[in-house]
Amino acid sequence: MNILVLNCGSSSIKYQLLDMKAQPVILAKGLVEKIGLPMGIFTHKPEGKEKLIIEQPIPDHVDGMDLILKALIDKKYGVIDSLNEINAVGHRIAHGGEYFSHSVLIDEDVKAKIKACSEIAPLHNPAHLKGITTMERLLPSVPQAAVFDTSFHQTLPPKAFIYGIPYEYYEKYGVRKYGFHGTSHKFVAEKACQILGWNIAEKKIITCHLGNGASITAIDKGKSVDTSMGFTPVAGVIMGTRCGDLDIGALLYICDKKQFTSLEAVRLTNKESGVYGISGVSSDFRELDAAVAEGNQRAQLAIEVFCYDVKKYIGSYAAVLNGVDLIVFTGGIGENNSIVREMVCNGLEYLGVDFDSNINQQARGVDRTLSKADSKVRVMTITTDEELVIATDTMELVKSIK
Ligand code: AMP
Repeated sequence: MNILVLNCGSSSIKYQLLDMKAQPVILAKGLVEKIGLPMGIFTHKPEGKEKLIIEQPIPDHVDGMDLILKALIDKKYGVIDSLNEINAVGHRIAHGGEYFSHSVLIDEDVKAKIKACSEIAPLHNPAHLKGITTMERLLPSVPQAAVFDTSFHQTLPPKAFIYGIPYEYYEKYGVRKYGFHGTSHKFVAEKACQILGWNIAEKKIITCHLGNGASITAIDKGKSVDTSMGFTPVAGVIMGTRCGDLDIGALLYICDKKQFTSLEAVRLTNKESGVYGISGVSSDFRELDAAVAEGNQRAQLAIEVFCYDVKKYIGSYAAVLNGVDLIVFTGGIGENNSIVREMVCNGLEYLGVDFDSNINQQARGVDRTLSKADSKVRVMTITTDEELVIATDTMELVKSIK
C-alpha cells in the first residue's frame, strides 16, 4: 500500500510517499516552499533517481500539490506510474484540541473539528485544512487520515493540564495544556521498549524530543501523563528560537516597554528567543557548537541554559512518575548531539543514571543505549520517524474500512 504523507504549513508542503510493505520504503520525499510569495521552490527527491528542483511562482496549495503529484508520476523523476497507485493520504495535524485522542479517517465532522481548533492553532490548522481540501479535489476517491500532534497527550490528568487561572478560561476558550510532538514521543517510547524487550505497560519513561522545537514527556505505563509544551508549542524548555517557560510578568513588562502588540509578542517569544536569542549566533546547535569551539561565551551560555532546562524537566518528571526506568533522547539534537546528551545526564547520578560517555560520543543517528550495563536507569538515543507513524496510522485506518 502506497501512502502519501503530507505536512502542510502556511507557505509550505512537506511530503513523503511510502510503500508500506513489511519494511516500509520511502519512494520519494520533498518540499514545496514559499507558497504565495513571488518565487516558490519545489524540491523533489525520488529514491534512486536524480533530484528535481523547480523555481517558479507557486500561488497556492493547489499549485503546490499539483507539482508534487506531477513529479510523483513523471517519466524521469517519478516513482509510480499513475496516481491510482496512491492508496491513501495521511496528514500531520498540529492541533486536535480535546476532540481527538487518536488518529482518524477524515470526514466532514473531522474537518469541522480541525477547523474549530484553528482558533487555538491559527498558524497551523488552517494550512492543514487547505491541504485536506486540496487533496479532496485532486484525488477525490482516495481516503485521507488525520494524525494529531496533540492526541497522545490527551491522557494527561486534569491536575497536569489545568492552568492556575480562572476555570472559565478553560471552559469558555479551551485554555489548557495540550502538549505537542505526541507522535514522536509515543513512537520512540514504544520503539525503545521493543528493542529492549520490555513491556511498556510496566515502565516509567521520560522522552526528550530535542530538535528545533523541543519537548519532554513523562510516560507512565505507555500513557502520557505530563509534557512540557502547553497551550501552544512555545512553553517548556528553551528551543531554537522559542523562549520556553517564561515569567508572564516579564513578557508583560517587555510589551509595556516596547509597546508590543500581541502579534509582536508572539514574534519575540517564538522567532527571536531561545538559544538564538541568548547566543545571537544561531538557532542551530551545530553552529552553536562551532561558535563555542571559537570561544563564544554566549553560545556556551545558550547551550548551558538549554541543557539545564532539559535536566530540570527530567528531574520533575521523575518526581511525577515516582522514579524512572528509561530516559530517551530523540530529534535532531537528541539523536546527534553528544555534548547536549552528556551535559543533561551529568548530575543525574542521584536518579540512578550511570552514563557511558564513550558510547555517547560515538552515537549519532542510531538507536543505542548510552548508559552502562548496570545503570539503574537506562538511557537511550532513538531515531524518531513521524512520517512513518502517520503512514502506519493511516494504513491501519484504511484497512479498517475494507
Ligand atoms: P530537528 O528540528 O529535529 O530537525 O533538529 C534540528 C536541530 O538538530 C538543529 O539544532 C541541528 O543542529 C541539530 N542536528 C540535526 N542534525 C544534526 C547532526 N547530524 N549533527 C548535529 N546536530 C544535528
